[in-house]
Amino acid sequence: MENMCYTDFASMNSMEYIEKNLAGNWSAEYNYRTDEKILIPTNRAVGMLSVYYKPGDNVTIEIHGPYEFKQQVMNVLQTKVFPYVNLNFRFVDYGGDWLIDDKWSSGGVTFDAGKKNPTIHLSNSSQFLVIHETCHALGMMHEMRNPNIDLTWIVSALEQKYSKGNININEQIIKTVKSNEVRALPFDKNSVMGYPLPGETNKENVEIKPAEELTDIDKQWLEMTYGKKQN
Ligand SMILES: [Zn+2]
Repeated sequence: MENMCYTDFASMNSMEYIEKNLAGNWSAEYNYRTDEKILIPTNRAVGMLSVYYKPGDNVTIEIHGPYEFKQQVMNVLQTKVFPYVNLNFRFVDYGGDWLIDDKWSSGGVTFDAGKKNPTIHLSNSSQFLVIHETCHALGMMHEMRNPNIDLTWIVSALEQKYSKGNININEQIIKTVKSNEVRALPFDKNSVMGYPLPGETNKENVEIKPAEELTDIDKQWLEMTYGKKQN
């Protein structure tokens, strides 16, 4: 499981994480009388309602690991993430608000997602993994937990696929966030926040194939949360 992510697993006992996860985030709507754009809370599984950083805030990031690892992580962030997030990111040697290192044996994990000082542990610097874990740090959640997901999981197939991984199938894949009385964005099978899963894992035979970069809906979430990118 080269690119498997353990964030839900690592945060399973944090009440704050669970509450924020349930809280969802925002969707743009128009007031029918004034045509004014207003933000309506939604419950898209991949986003927290309340993140620490506000539009335009400064964020410093320190990266630890071998030279090549650091260069590759910085390159992915600069070209594939920062252009779509309205925060002022800067790399520092020490004392960063965020910490990214190579101290994870397989895949990656993010602790304190959506908070002031998240920590990202990576096992490698692949583009997908760097973007995926960074988006957790920004408050995004796994797309499989979107309440609008319209797939019927075949549990035996999931169990077979993850027989060797340290994955809690129920917590990380099957259990969606509840969407009582709220709207949610459509399920995005290509979201960078998905897990790669073959069609055999669900009755609808839909392959979940996370994109190697942010999809339009991923970017939409980032803009709703952090505002339009200011140059
Ligand atoms: Zn993840």
